[in-house]
Amino acid sequence: MLKGAPILAGNILDAEFITNLIQHDDGYRVLSGIRNSPSHWEAEKKKVLAMIRQFGVPSLFITLSAAETRWPELLKILKFTVDKENITEEEAESLPYSEKVRLIQSDPFICATYFEIRFQELRKTWSSSVGPFGSYKINHYYYRIEFQHRGSPHAHMMLWLDKAPSFDQNNSMSTSEIEKFIDEIISCSSDEIGEDLVNLQTHRHSCYPKPGRPCRFEIPFFPMDKTEVLFELNTSDLRAKGFKQLALTLREKLESIPTEVNSFEAFLTFAGITHEEYILAIRSVLKRPKILLKRSPKDVYVNPYSKKIIQLHKVNMDIQFILDPFACSLYIVNYINKGDRSMSRLLRAAVEEAKKDNKSVQQSLRSI
Ligand SMILES: [Zn+2]
Repeated sequence: MLKGAPILAGNILDAEFITNLIQHDDGYRVLSGIRNSPSHWEAEKKKVLAMIRQFGVPSLFITLSAAETRWPELLKILKFTVDKENITEEEAESLPYSEKVRLIQSDPFICATYFEIRFQELRKTWSSSVGPFGSYKINHYYYRIEFQHRGSPHAHMMLWLDKAPSFDQNNSMSTSEIEKFIDEIISCSSDEIGEDLVNLQTHRHSCYPKPGRPCRFEIPFFPMDKTEVLFELNTSDLRAKGFKQLALTLREKLESIPTEVNSFEAFLTFAGITHEEYILAIRSVLKRPKILLKRSPKDVYVNPYSKKIIQLHKVNMDIQFILDPFACSLYIVNYINKGDRSMSRLLRAAVEEAKKDNKSVQQSLRSI
């Protein structure tokens, strides 16, 4: 049987065909047409890996959330589809929060469709020379929309930009080009966007860090006087151990920077270290090269954003420049393949169960 060939009703009547299917464990492959099934994500993962192989490491990863309660245009539509009532966008905006939630929960189809259309419209601005990527043309892209448990969509994207710099560890020119590129496209400053958007971009540890298990996003971020690609300290470097300890103390200090510490220099004074010691401390805890954005001490909780995208989309976002294949695979594992794990787990458990009891193929399929 040809891999990927459709299975027709006639094939199923053919005993040899069925034996072949079972032998190659292809029986579950029919599920790959069903979104969110493990075979579907397996196929998606292969597609992404093939793209990376063909086009190289993508330049940017972008995640966009949805914020249904903050979109009066959507609430206005919902008020009509759910309650058959016409209201203005201003009226929609001033609806009580509980009312907004009721409308959103009442019509998930409209919400999902609205997000899709909004996302497609937003993307149209990306190829403009005054768009978020300026003169960089989008050569290729990949995206997936993921639904969180509460049903709100997220878009995860990879972009391959034409003529964007790529990272070469042995070429210092490449790092300075990358730093320049990032400063054109990515920011984490609370001064460039409105208070509302800063609020959206502020990390609030929904990851629930505990003592001994710090924030998995490594937030708060380190303040920096300029955007810089930093390299890990050589493990044979005798200074490494001492600076690791210093990095730990620094991390604690980041949690409680007083408001009067409003410049990078003031931060160093507050931390009681020199610039050189500070950079060495950060480098001592790195496992691979990492980008640190130019960041004021007051913005240690602000996630990176693209000014043009966030101003149009008005929701929480994430944007990262991808240094190397490792960072790339990390992203795929964390995002492209992240959600829907419970679904995979459930199916896998059913398959295991079926195998264990030595059930017939028919019985196995039924239990799956
Ligand atoms: Zn956190």
